[in-house]
Amino acid sequence: MKEISEEERKWLERLAEPVAELKHIALDIEVYNPKGVMPQPENPEYPIFIISLCGSDGLKKVLVYNLRGDIKEEDIEFDKFEVEVFEDEISLIRRALDIIRDYPILITFNGDSFDLPYILARSKRLGFMEVGDYIERGKNEFRISWGIHIDLYKFFKNVSIKTYAFSGAYDVISLGSIARALINKDKKELPGYFDDLPMKDIIEYGYNDAEITLELTQFNDNLVMKLIVIISRISNMTIDDVTRLSVSNWIRNRIFYLHRIKNYLIPRPDEIREKKWVRHFQPVTKGKKYVGALVIDPKPGIHFNVVVVDFASLYPSILKEYNISYETVNCPHKECMSNLVPETTTWICSRKKGLISEFAGIIRDIRVNVFKRLSKDENIPKAQREFYGVIQRALKVIINALYGVIGADTFQFYYLPAAEAVTLYGRYVIKKAIEKADEMGLEVIYGDTDSLFIKNPDVEKLDNLVTYIKDRYRLQLEIDKIYKYTVLSSRKKNYFGITDNGIVDIKGLMGKKSNTPPYIRDIFYQILDKLRTVEDIGQFKVVKNDIIKIINEAESKLISKDIPLEELVITVTLSKKTDQYTKTTPQHVKAARMLERALGIKLQPGHMIRIIKTKNSEGVAPIELVKSLDQVDSKKYIELLHSTLEQILEVLEIKVNRRRKIATIDENRMSLDKFFKF
Ligand SMILES: [Zn+2]
Repeated sequence: MKEISEEERKWLERLAEPVAELKHIALDIEVYNPKGVMPQPENPEYPIFIISLCGSDGLKKVLVYNLRGDIKEEDIEFDKFEVEVFEDEISLIRRALDIIRDYPILITFNGDSFDLPYILARSKRLGFMEVGDYIERGKNEFRISWGIHIDLYKFFKNVSIKTYAFSGAYDVISLGSIARALINKDKKELPGYFDDLPMKDIIEYGYNDAEITLELTQFNDNLVMKLIVIISRISNMTIDDVTRLSVSNWIRNRIFYLHRIKNYLIPRPDEIREKKWVRHFQPVTKGKKYVGALVIDPKPGIHFNVVVVDFASLYPSILKEYNISYETVNCPHKECMSNLVPETTTWICSRKKGLISEFAGIIRDIRVNVFKRLSKDENIPKAQREFYGVIQRALKVIINALYGVIGADTFQFYYLPAAEAVTLYGRYVIKKAIEKADEMGLEVIYGDTDSLFIKNPDVEKLDNLVTYIKDRYRLQLEIDKIYKYTVLSSRKKNYFGITDNGIVDIKGLMGKKSNTPPYIRDIFYQILDKLRTVEDIGQFKVVKNDIIKIINEAESKLISKDIPLEELVITVTLSKKTDQYTKTTPQHVKAARMLERALGIKLQPGHMIRIIKTKNSEGVAPIELVKSLDQVDSKKYIELLHSTLEQILEVLEIKVNRRRKIATIDENRMSLDKFFKF
């Protein structure tokens, strides 16, 4: 391993310190509400009757208030957990508080907006005022007096956690969806309302939620708890804050700290704005404040053996290598004014190291040079290696978010010329890399932001390019992936490729969306499977015809309605109550209202409504109310099929004829012969 600096050593010690096993307990409450009406903490009229608890020490308990008076011996016999029955609600709540008080950390899913405020409000309504010694209302959260309350809903909702720590594995922020994606478990759903169900079923359901909540903290050797602790070490923030605030706050807090240890004054945002504030290039994308990344025109057609090289952590590397920070860009020193960002009048300090630059550098270096390496080192015991993997992942969350954070005008240290300088350097080096590649005889067929697609490259030339860029621009080019073949369309950001290990990459990947009906998703994957088999241009032509056949068959089936209803369901989550949609009424809300009317109930936010596109005046109905396949609107499904496949078809030059509903090769745009000549 290469030499590390004193500062890096401090970071290493801080981050690599083992994370203590944090004793914690998951809590979930059930409120006895008639007909699925959502209980409101603001008006806690319904009784709490089940409190389920699952501890990291193995405690498994369900506390039940026998409010119907119908609990029998056999209702409370479970192998997995113990049940305690109470004859009044206050005793139930009191017992739960006594148990959780033994745990320094309380885990909930939605505890800030439901479980804790409901317990607090309900207890007060019942005259159990001691509850205030346990649960306290914060600004946007609910805290416990003796320890830490972590609301996993807020943690998993954090965009950076979702995207970078879990690679977007879950989509909807609900206990069910996250459990399915991360621990491969299904949340139990109740088959009806509490009124109609036997107590035994309700108890089991309550327990299941608490169990899943606990497991979300425990899978992969307590990954989530460790991630939280590591991020709190990086950001210098308390665990409560880490789990509730965004990555921008984490970074801001760390930068504050950097100011303090260097004895710098922390500027106010308006003080930063008083500096030279020039924008050199107009943004192309609406809503952006400065110019975006460079995307070069693709060479359309099919290309075999394409190597994609990309700049490792391009923007953080630029921040580090080019000393970009709010205070080093357009600094007050005369002698720095000649150190200009290419094609601008922005200059960068050559006397002092910038705070954000330093932060970016350290995070990047310890991640890549230390923890990424250690996490793959076979000589290190597995558990330790995996721990280093968690640290690596936490650092990745920060490093990937950093550029977005400094480029947002809500960030405390936002300085437009600094953010613009990062993008401009990015554009500059990628242009230079392409020029050099051309000069060396490497064929660049596409480039986007930080990556270059190079066709059939000579290995030695590629090595030389990497060395050149490293020496000249202090940036690292790496092989990201190799495509067996890739098909580029004439549009930017619109291509697909099959990697050497058979993975299909599609820019945008429409068919993967969770609200695509199963039948159409299946067609999408059938097409991908076909594309995966292609080894040469001859096969490609054959496969293209196969794909047209698949589409034609799918269309015929949709027209003749030869598909089970379940296969046509589109699942959408209600994000608000149906009466809170006032301006517009999306289709799924129309369906939800129909269901509410038919069943005489109110659906709650988070409810997954399953809709079918139908020929009635609303154009939609919940599957529960669709009596026969005749009601299905085939035309709408064919449109959905086409829009799902749009990108693939466009790249493959397959045109769907809306009137005849038959897929053909697009003659108007380019003949096949011409298409294969490149
Ligand atoms: Zn300077």
